[in-house]
Amino acid sequence: MDNCLFCRIVARSMPAEIVYENNQTLAFLDIKPVNPGHVLVIPKNHYADFVSTPSSVLEEIVAVAQKLAPVILAATGSPAFNIGVNNGKEAGQVVSHMHLHVMPRHADDGHEMWHGREYTPGEMARVAGEIRGQL
Ligand code: 5GP
Ligand code: ZN
Repeated sequence: MDNCLFCRIVARSMPAEIVYENNQTLAFLDIKPVNPGHVLVIPKNHYADFVSTPSSVLEEIVAVAQKLAPVILAATGSPAFNIGVNNGKEAGQVVSHMHLHVMPRHADDGHEMWHGREYTPGEMARVAGEIRGQL
């Protein structure tokens, strides 16, 4: 897709700090990292988001993340990492080409995790029932 930023990175018509690639995937540094070494793992083919990416491709993306994560930690001196996917703009997805974030973390690095809320009485069972009912 010509107008897709990450497709342009795959095509090398847009520069990126690529750290790894194989047949199906490409991994490069996020331009605005949570911490240095924050990597995005993407499919070379264009899929808009997580749910539209074939599960076999997701398996490869996860395998690459698992291979790279300890390497990123060793290279950056980070003790830990988060993995994340934002699916949909309300969840923070800005680039509509599936990407998995591998984010090295340090103690007290200031990156905020989500803050959980409490269920109201009965809400948890109701929501679980609604999800099960959709399967
Ligand atoms: P999202 O919010 O869609 O899950 O994440 C998109 C990520 O892509 C952001 O973390 C953002 O910093 C990164 N990003 C946006 N534009 C570029 C770019 O041109 N090059 C690189 N390497 N990363 C980008
Ligand atoms: Zn794309």
